This record gives sequence, structure tokens and C-alpha cells, in this order.
Amino acid sequence: MALSKDLLAILACPKCVREPGCTGDLEYHEEKQQLICRHCKLIYSIKDDIPVMLVEEATFLEE
Ligand SMILES: [Zn+2]
Repeated sequence: MALSKDLLAILACPKCVREPGCTGDLEYHEEKQQLICRHCKLIYSIKDDIPVMLVEEATFLEE
């Protein structure tokens, strides 16, 4: 199941949102059930339709 747009609109990277000038925008990858922050390159997983917005639980994006 996909996350609702309303929920996505309010989600932000908990790490970046505290930084001045950064909104903490997240990219939603529905097929992988992941939310990716391009600013700090952390991947937040979505478990049972609930985004796990914890820096400690996030994994680092490798490119
Ligand atoms: Zn971030």
C-alpha cells in the first residue's frame, strides 16, 4: 500500500529539518518502501506503511 500524499507532505528528515535553510525533503520510493533524504544521504525504511523516521534506524545511501 502506498503512503498518502498528505502524510508524505508532512514528513521530513529528522536530521536535516533542524538545520537552517533545509526543509528535510524526502524522496518516496514506493517500490522499495523507502524514504530517501538527498541532503544527508540517509534512507528511512517504511514498515507496515509506517515510515521509521529515526536517524538511528536509517541506513546510509551509497552511490
Ligand atoms: Zn537528511
